[in-house]
Amino acid sequence: MASYVALAVVAGVIASVTIDRSLAEQLETQLDRRLTAQAHVVARWIAQTKHYDRLATRLATVVAARVTIVDASGVAIGDSEGAVDDPGAAAHAPVPSEIRTAHSGHVGRATRYSAERGQDMRYVAVPASSELAVRLGVPTAEIDSTKASLRGQLLAASSVSLLIAVVLAVIVARTLSRRLRQLSAVAEQIGRGNYDTPPPSRSPDEIGILSRTLHMTASQLRQIDAMRREFLSDVAHELRTPVTSIRGYAETLTASEMDDGTRTEFLQVIHRNALRIARLVDDLLQLQALEDSAIKREATAKVAAATIIDHVLATAGASAIADPDRPRFEVGVPPALCVLADPDGLEQILQNLVDNAVKYGGTGVTVRVSAARHGQRVAIAVADNGPGIAEAHLPRIFDRFYRADSGRSREQGGSGLGLAIAKKLAQSMNGHIDVQSEQGRGTTFTLELPAG
Ligand code: ADP
Repeated sequence: MASYVALAVVAGVIASVTIDRSLAEQLETQLDRRLTAQAHVVARWIAQTKHYDRLATRLATVVAARVTIVDASGVAIGDSEGAVDDPGAAAHAPVPSEIRTAHSGHVGRATRYSAERGQDMRYVAVPASSELAVRLGVPTAEIDSTKASLRGQLLAASSVSLLIAVVLAVIVARTLSRRLRQLSAVAEQIGRGNYDTPPPSRSPDEIGILSRTLHMTASQLRQIDAMRREFLSDVAHELRTPVTSIRGYAETLTASEMDDGTRTEFLQVIHRNALRIARLVDDLLQLQALEDSAIKREATAKVAAATIIDHVLATAGASAIADPDRPRFEVGVPPALCVLADPDGLEQILQNLVDNAVKYGGTGVTVRVSAARHGQRVAIAVADNGPGIAEAHLPRIFDRFYRADSGRSREQGGSGLGLAIAKKLAQSMNGHIDVQSEQGRGTTFTLELPAG
């Protein structure tokens, strides 16, 4: 506000000084014009008479100015105030500049202190007939008083404007600072974790924009906060079962006597649950790492799809060896088909899809892995003829900790993070993963990647 007032003062002073100057100039030119016109009139009268002194006195009352008639040598031969020179003595006195100019045929002007009058005078001299010149003089005090009154009015006007400007500045500054204080109070509330910000200002100015941005930020923070809470409770929930189980078995082991067979069995349960926790932690860390790397990972290499798929099926087959109703695997992949991918990531995705098909496909499931090129993309499909996934679950199947059949998934040691990780991995390789399923018929997951 101080700078605004300073600016107003500077602008006011500059404007006042300029106006004052131009008004003063105008007054002076007006006076000069009047005196010049009147001097010409007086000059015409000169031809009519030889009584210059009397003429000067008479005309002086008409034109309200001192009238002096001067001859060619600069001697005053007529003066309304009786200052007629002694022809002999005055010849030596210096001829005033305005008279000299008049004698040379032009209009002479000068402002000078007059000792006789004891005040500053404005003189205008014009040439007249028979080598004479006429000079009119008025005291500058006349226009000075006009100037002073104009200046007074100007000062009053600029003071009033300045006052108005200051009052306006105070009002604007108050309103602005009140609105800014409100905003900062809202920001403080958000900082404290209270995201229920008041409705944002509708005003189209910068503060309005800031307020709306703040409101948006608050809603985003609220969402993030809700997600964080949900995530924490999900993790706690996931950990509770294996931890409770480990605690129970460990307590029983330490508290009671038992035979070696039971002891081994208990220890195996503890080990299984510890593995489950370890897997959950690993999965969480991987998911976190994938979410952190906002920049897409470059597809690292050209990979033969068939090679990776062979690895995946070998691993799945080996783990299912003990199963009497072993899953059957079918492969339909052109040997030369290549994708642009990170080989480890690709293997992890496919392993997860094939393992899921085996886990949830039920006894005697057939898992078919096929791949085909469509333009610049390659689609790798993992299909099973298992029970399928109910339509209600499909949209959320890739969510963290989401399980379509939670009993079965937990029993299978699943963390509910496999598909979430697969989806993120696919995205990090500029890929995309999709699911199609029909209950009772089976499920097909399709991974799409850039062709290599
Ligand atoms: P999990 O660790 O539980 O296997 P995933 O994220 O890999 O977690 O899978 C999420 C859920 O999707 C599983 O719990 C399961 O209910 C369902 N699901 C995944 N693949 C299949 C499939 N091939 N057939 C039927 N259900 C499946």
